[in-house]
Amino acid sequence: MSLTVLRTRDELSAFLRRLRSTGASLALVPTMGNLHRGHLALVERAAKLAERVAVSIFVNPTQFGPEEDFDRYPRTPEQDLAALSTVPCDLVFMPPVEEMYPFGIPSAVRVRVPGLSEVLCGERRPGHFDGVATVVLRLLTLFDPEVAVFGEKDYQQLLLVRRLVADLGLPVRIEGVPTVRDGDGLALSSRNAYLDAEDRARAVLLHRVLRRMGERWLAGEERERIEREALDALRAGGLKPEYAVIRRAEDLALPRSGERPVRALAAAVVGKARLIDNWPIP
Ligand code: AMP
Repeated sequence: MSLTVLRTRDELSAFLRRLRSTGASLALVPTMGNLHRGHLALVERAAKLAERVAVSIFVNPTQFGPEEDFDRYPRTPEQDLAALSTVPCDLVFMPPVEEMYPFGIPSAVRVRVPGLSEVLCGERRPGHFDGVATVVLRLLTLFDPEVAVFGEKDYQQLLLVRRLVADLGLPVRIEGVPTVRDGDGLALSSRNAYLDAEDRARAVLLHRVLRRMGERWLAGEERERIEREALDALRAGGLKPEYAVIRRAEDLALPRSGERPVRALAAAVVGKARLIDNWPIP
């Protein structure tokens, strides 16, 4: 399959008009690049849901805080295009910042999803989810796909996008794909590149603690205690946890005792990386 690479909105509209004139359906996979097997699993899923697959690669400045890693976020466009040539992908959109925010970032129109954008990662990264909602809405408007595919790895983001689409009544289906992990269980993430060997060895604890939280919830233990001991376990393993919680899977609200489905979610700083992960408790 030949891979088309586009960088401007005009080129994209022209290409999509031609594609749509053939009657083909379209799935979109939004990413920030530095693609790994997790991203490629999203593309594979997209190809099962629509006849044509588009991937966007855009490190979105509005979702990074002023002290965050926007400048050092790994950018590997050649590697990404090589990876995408091995999967069923028709179109890659790699816009420069001016193309996505033509009026500049301070003046950019923004959207906000109240509630979901304010808890957990939203509490630690003020404005982050406004940036996510803003760029996702821009991409959905530009591509107008039948389906957009997101990873459960960023579970809060997935719920936020579902809410955005439901509230605005956008005609797109949002599909979630389970997290792809390394052999030892660490969730694949572009930010794993920040880990040295020692931190990489430590980082597996995040996923182990989440699984253990799930087991304890299913055994009927009390939520506060599970969460407290999870934080202790992460600290004891040399991680700096921001949160480790059990929340209702549907909306991240506090669950009633024994309620299901819930989700264990955690964020922790490991060396130079801030890592997040979550585990389903069905
Ligand atoms: P990112 O490039 O990190 O913004 O991620 C782009 C998309 O890939 C998001 O929908 C992520 O949730 C998804 N993703 C990232 N890592 C993984 C993973 N390990 N497994 C599945 N999906 C992932």
